[in-house]
Amino acid sequence: MTLMIPFDNSYARLPGAFFARQAPEPVRAPRLVAFNDDLARVLGVSCGEAQDMAEVFAGNQVPQGAEPLAQLYSGHQFGTYNPQLGDGRAVLLGEVIGADGVRRDIQLKGSGRTPFSRQGDGRAWLGPVLREYVVSEAMHALGIPTTRALAAVETGEVVLREGPMPGAVLTRVAQSHLRVGTFQVFAARGQIADLRRLTEYAIARHYPEANGPMDLLRAVRDAQAALIPQWMAVGFIHGVMNTDNCAISGETIDYGPCAFMDSYHPNTVYSSIDRMGRYAYSNQPEIAVWNLAQLATALIQQMEDKEGAVEEATEIVHAMPDQLQRNWLMRFRAKIGLVREEEGDVELISDLLTRMAQNQADFTNTFRALGGDAARDQFTDPGAFDTWAEGWLARLTREDDPAATLRAANPAYIPRNHRVEQMIQAAVKGDYAPFDRLSAVLARPFDDQADANDLKRPPAQGEVVHATFCGT
Ligand code: AMP
Ligand code: MG
Repeated sequence: MTLMIPFDNSYARLPGAFFARQAPEPVRAPRLVAFNDDLARVLGVSCGEAQDMAEVFAGNQVPQGAEPLAQLYSGHQFGTYNPQLGDGRAVLLGEVIGADGVRRDIQLKGSGRTPFSRQGDGRAWLGPVLREYVVSEAMHALGIPTTRALAAVETGEVVLREGPMPGAVLTRVAQSHLRVGTFQVFAARGQIADLRRLTEYAIARHYPEANGPMDLLRAVRDAQAALIPQWMAVGFIHGVMNTDNCAISGETIDYGPCAFMDSYHPNTVYSSIDRMGRYAYSNQPEIAVWNLAQLATALIQQMEDKEGAVEEATEIVHAMPDQLQRNWLMRFRAKIGLVREEEGDVELISDLLTRMAQNQADFTNTFRALGGDAARDQFTDPGAFDTWAEGWLARLTREDDPAATLRAANPAYIPRNHRVEQMIQAAVKGDYAPFDRLSAVLARPFDDQADANDLKRPPAQGEVVHATFCGT
């Protein structure tokens, strides 16, 4: 059998200002280390010999039908506008329309320099590639919109980071790679015809029912306002919510120094480059609103009636905080077993979270244990849980099937940061057993798995990872 990818490309048909045609740069000794059969089936990608697949997913061989290109975008990085970013270490091979009728991008990340590389080497090392592979697939299994991982290859080359590291390429799949920053670059440069073309393209691809730029803004708002509370509900911290890392589709994108919280604290930050805590766990909803405001500013540039557009866009953006709060409340109600909406639910949830923060309670294990009888053991002072639980148990009597609600809302397994680090360290030494095991367990995060209790445990003192690095 030969590897076959049924490309059907649309981005490559857009004006030349949108991208630079760029073939991936071949690597010395590609070796396929991971391939996602389930996703391949959805995409209609048929597998070939391992070595052929390694050649393709390393970029050594451009498959038939691919039209490789690097996409242009800009964006606000930590609040400061950078007028030109773009795919500096990635190429879009092309798009496929899956068995589910959905069009998706197939992109190589770590595939060499492009016209947008700036000072970068265009490469990625194995650590961030495997981190993105495992975490994005775990997010998918948790039911959270996300880009996905189709393949990972080692390149047989050395990449210089904190030291010499093994190079790797990730094959990433996304409903598109359109970002807030894709709109910003044309708006900032006054390329209004291109901005209009991009807006039409985004609407046709993602929100065909949307009627014009302001309707697109509404649709993106709704998608982001649904997404961020889902992150919050599993303790996920994206780490770098720059506008170039904010996808129009509403998928989680660009897993860099991201992590899941172990013990709960609202101010948790992992990213070593986020020194001010801009992208801390509890700031994420506010940042999503800020990012949407940047999209609004960009979209407005194409409107004939600017004053009217500013008014409408302001209204759209201003509605987002309430929407985030409503979705957050729905997610966290479910996490404590509630479906009915009652006054006082917010206070009940907030009170639990406050006590969890004061008692170093593990986020995932505490919520999971609400369905059993060991939640109090998660608290340094179990009495702090008991006094909360009195009100909670009274509230539960007005619910039909809280046990089922709790079970469906609270996973047993998340990709804990120390396990991800241990997995990377093993892979660097050529041992992929932890990668395979972590992937298998995280594919069923809501099922207790008899032989995987160790993957539920928070880090022991010596295992705690305090910062995660970009790998750029
Ligand atoms: P990221 O941190 O992955 O969101 O990347 C931010 C910007 O830096 C994007 O334009 C990337 O393409 C670019 N970039 C990151 N790492 C590299 C690299 N090693 N070589 C070239 N460009 C890079
Ligand atoms: Mg990025």
